[in-house]
Amino acid sequence: MNIKLHFFGATETVTGSQYLLEAKGKKILIDCGLYQGRDLSDRNWDPFPQRAHEIDAIILTHGHLDHCGLLPKLVREGFKGNIHATTATAEIARIVMLDSGHMHEEDAKFKTKRHMKEGRVPPRPVLPLYTVDDAEKVTPLFKGVGYGQTAQIADGVSAVFHDAGHILGSSMVTVTVEEGGEKRVILFSGDIGRKDKPILRDPATFEFADYVVMESTYGDRTHPEEDDVASVLADVINATIEKRGNIVIPAFAVERSQELLYHLSALQREKRIPKIMTFLDSPMAVSVTKVFQQHMEMYDEDAISMVHEGRSPFDMPGLKLVRTVDTSKSINFIKGSAIIIAGSGMCTGGRIKHHLVHNIQYPENTILFVGYQANGTLGRNILNGNSKEVRILGKMFSVRAGIRQIHGFSGHADRNEMTEWVTSLNTPPRKVFITHGEPSAQKAFRDHLAEKTGWDVVVPKWLETFDLE
Ligand SMILES: [Zn+2]
Repeated sequence: MNIKLHFFGATETVTGSQYLLEAKGKKILIDCGLYQGRDLSDRNWDPFPQRAHEIDAIILTHGHLDHCGLLPKLVREGFKGNIHATTATAEIARIVMLDSGHMHEEDAKFKTKRHMKEGRVPPRPVLPLYTVDDAEKVTPLFKGVGYGQTAQIADGVSAVFHDAGHILGSSMVTVTVEEGGEKRVILFSGDIGRKDKPILRDPATFEFADYVVMESTYGDRTHPEEDDVASVLADVINATIEKRGNIVIPAFAVERSQELLYHLSALQREKRIPKIMTFLDSPMAVSVTKVFQQHMEMYDEDAISMVHEGRSPFDMPGLKLVRTVDTSKSINFIKGSAIIIAGSGMCTGGRIKHHLVHNIQYPENTILFVGYQANGTLGRNILNGNSKEVRILGKMFSVRAGIRQIHGFSGHADRNEMTEWVTSLNTPPRKVFITHGEPSAQKAFRDHLAEKTGWDVVVPKWLETFDLE
């Protein structure tokens, strides 16, 4: 059997997922993610390692930008095959790519303006990486599948999508190559989610694979002792209502915002918090929430039983889904307490900045963090609390609001959960490839897994190729 696996991205980094599988004379790409972060984002502009029109099909594990964000560029450059993904992934990826196209257009406009202001004439016009229009052209290529169904990728190559427990529609994918009565199974982990997350079913486990390609974001860590999310949320909300303040929550549009709605709706129903005006102030989060509402078949038992009892897991009295800028602005004039959920998740852009401007200076309000805040972001500066003043939209504001954080929302498995996941295999795989992690996390996890199992565990380098015999 002649199978080759090329590592085109997410090698020694957590973004830019892209692997190419060559089998049965076909070229199949697994994920086509954007590089994020200053160090590597230049790579987004490089020519694809495999020319777009020579790729036969794509398998997409989930709709996060670091997994789907270069698809518009690939399609613009000539990819015409099918993109196999769960139906929910196709819908979420569409929203994420359109938003990304819009951001790239804005970015190019901003740079052009700055050049004009500085009187600089660049050698060629500043172009966006891709446009909204490019992103729109990806949609017709999606071929939606359900969990557990077999997708025929090429003659003798099939794929099955399984629950990953990471975001709605997210998948772990087993690719089977058959030739002359022999077969090989390659398991792509996608992003490995967690057990007992709201809405989603637990990550699938597998008894057999010849090869495993797995992520390692938290390969060197275990999650800290976690909060009982609902209880802390209720405490923060009740305490803030008592002071007649607002609760401002920066949140990512995909998954985190819907998890919050899920918890809030449950808390209200259980009368652990009073009815309170709640704004989901993000057009993207609103669109993603609609996708969640349409995919009951992907819910876990708890969420399904909520629906059967006639309740939506994402709706409650007092909830307003905000799309327009005017409605967003009108939130500032509300009397009485309100919960305001807005993006971006780390306060680096989006409508959350305006809500911080209106709320951060008053001690009756609470800014509540529910996600990781990277170094150097506004979110981290506020959370650190060592600055009495922060710069938002070009002005300085004193931080007088209460600052709280809830641990327990992480969407990625930690070292122990990853180990448990991969060691559910009954027979040793021929090789395990560790991807999608910072170098230290990858090395730590490789050593940990190799020592524990005696398996052949490798960390591929960027553009490295392996023959899977
Ligand atoms: Zn992800």
